Order: sequence, then C-alpha cells, then structure tokens
Amino acid sequence: MTASFIPPKRILMGPGPSDVPQRILDAMARPTIGHLDPAFVDLMEQIKSMLRMAFQTGNALTFPVSAPGSAGMEMCFVNLVEPGDKVIVCRNGVFGGRMLENVKRTGGVPVVVDDAWGTPVDPQKVRDAFKANPDAKVLAFVHAETSTGAQSDAETLGKIAQEFDALTIMDCVTSLGGTPLYMDKWGIDAVYSGSQKCLSCTPGLSPVSFSERAINRIKARTTTVQSWFLDLNLVLGYWQSAGKRTYHHTAPVNPMYGLHEALVILEEEGLENAWARHRTMHEKLKAGLESMGLKYVVEASARLPQLNSIYVPEGVDEAAIRTRLLNEFNLEIGAGLGDMSGKIWRIGLMGYSAKQENVDYCLKALKACLP
Ligand SMILES: *Cc1c(COP(=O)(O)O)cnc(C)c1O
Repeated sequence: MTASFIPPKRILMGPGPSDVPQRILDAMARPTIGHLDPAFVDLMEQIKSMLRMAFQTGNALTFPVSAPGSAGMEMCFVNLVEPGDKVIVCRNGVFGGRMLENVKRTGGVPVVVDDAWGTPVDPQKVRDAFKANPDAKVLAFVHAETSTGAQSDAETLGKIAQEFDALTIMDCVTSLGGTPLYMDKWGIDAVYSGSQKCLSCTPGLSPVSFSERAINRIKARTTTVQSWFLDLNLVLGYWQSAGKRTYHHTAPVNPMYGLHEALVILEEEGLENAWARHRTMHEKLKAGLESMGLKYVVEASARLPQLNSIYVPEGVDEAAIRTRLLNEFNLEIGAGLGDMSGKIWRIGLMGYSAKQENVDYCLKALKACLP
C-alpha cells in the first residue's frame, strides 16, 4: 500500500512558490462547497474587489483564472491578438520569450525588442519599434523578470504604447504585492499574475485584469478566440454579477479560499507596507551577501527587491551548493535559467518569505556552504 504523502518542511527562497503561511493552509482545509453556492459567489465578489486593490485598478473585469500564471498570460494573448495583428514584444529574459511564443501561436506578427538578460527593457528601443511599426496593435512586456531579477519601467512603457494607440499587456506575476504597481495610473490594459509569488498563496491561480479599452478590442474581434477555456466572452458570463452566474467550469473552490485569505492578509498589512517590507528585507539581504563578496547581476537602479540574482563565485559548483542547502538546511533557492544556467543563483524574498528570520537563515546557510 502506498502511504500518504508527507512533504518535507522547507524554507522557500527561490523564484516561487514562496512560503505559504499557516493561515492560508488552514483556510484551504475548510469544507468544500458548491461553486455556484451563493456563499461561494460572495467569496468570489470579495476576491475580485481585493484584487482591484492589489492591482490598483477600477477595472470591473478583474478575477483569478483557474490555472497558473502561464494560463493568465495565454488568456491575455489569445483574446487581445488576432491573426495578422502586429505585436511589439520585449524580451529581456525567459518570460519575455514565452510572451513571444504566445504571439506566434495566436497568429500575431511579432516585432521583437531584445535587451540583454539582467537589464530592463529599454524604452528608447520600444519607441523606435513603434516608429518603424506604427500599425502595431499591442505592446507586451514583463514588469518583473523573475529569470534575471530586473525590473522594467512600466509607467514609461505604458505611456509610449498609449502615444501610438496600442494596447499594453504586462506580466506582473512577480511584481504583484511585492513592488509598486499602478495599473490604472500607468494606463496598462491587460495584466496577469500568479498566486504563488508575492501573494504567498499556493500555486495554481492567475489573477488577471482588463481595461475597458481591452474589452472593446475583444468585442470587436472578427475571429473566434481559438481557446475555448480562455475565451473571455465565455468566462465573462461565469464571473459576471452575482445571481446570474452560469456554469462554465468548476472553479477550484478550496484554492479560492486560499487566495481570499492571502488577499485579506495583504489588506491587513496594507499594500504600501507590503512593498516597503520587501524593500527593507532586500536591503538587509543585500548587505549580507555583499559582505560575503557576492555580486549582484542587475544594476542597483533596476533591481527587484523580491528576486535577488547573484553571480556564483568562480570555481564553485553551483548545483552542489543548492543540493547542500536543500539537504542540510531545508532551504530552497533558485538556479539560473537559459543563458544564465550554472552562472547565477536567484534568491527570492517573496510575500511571507520576505522576513528577517529568512534573511538571517539564508545568509547563515550560505556562509556554511560556501568555501
Ligand atoms: C512564475 C512566472 C510566470 C509563470 O507562472 P506559472 O504560475 O509558473 O505558470 C510567468 N511570468 C513570470 C514573470 C513569472 O515569474
């Protein structure tokens, strides 16, 4: 007979998932109710309203997709890009590359703006791309590139897209709840995030939000959205005002309890206080890492507080160190991806993981493992 699965107790300081507080796990263990139960409908209304606070938006169409961040990404692209539409895609890491893949698969015509990994998106290059392609309909970029730890200037990029009358799709999987994000003020039309990064919920839900301009674009489509599950025209009926809800898919009921609790915790702390806490913990971790002689990959002005990428010192076997951290300290940190594989570590300070005891523990463990 197979025994029940008991996970080891880890401290999660990688690129996500982050540590999940017991309050959220307790919320998820409450009894399952029907997904059309009036009590569940109330819960969803509260989730939508708290997500508007987190994204700093008044958008009516704000809700969690029943799938991970990558599905939120795909929802933005399949609904906002029609075959033949020109899309300016910024690529300065893994997730920009994934956006490009989405553009291609929706039949869009990509115009790629490349920047070196570890640097932010260069607004001048984006402006030049629009000048060369004034018919571009969408600008897509990643606010917080988790693969490198670089943050791009979303406000400036959003303004450029508006000047050229294009919609903006922004990945804020790692920025939501961790670093300042003002969807409406910055004029961003579509955003997607994830439950497991700075919200510290379990993985598997993707909060999204769409502006009025984005909805008008979707309504004016001349082709059908090729994904049935992610077609906003259909999902809308499900997430629409309480009382009139119809069946689209069975919402993951207990994970929604978890997301609700995560947002209640964020409300209690205050969004700006949460941003400040990530910044403070980053400063403390940085001081410790630098005193050990470790060097940051990203220039100070574009550094993400919640994702600290540092170079592996010369002659050190990076995978062996991560294995020791996991086996001897139950501590997870991230490896480099793609071009940065084997060259960097990524230390996450996301959500509940962004606290003094984690900073101290991580520094102590690294000191013990580094030669
Ligand atoms: C984690 C992440 C994603 C993907 O989210 P999943 O929940 O793993 O699908 C997308 N973009 C960025 C920037 C991320 O950090």
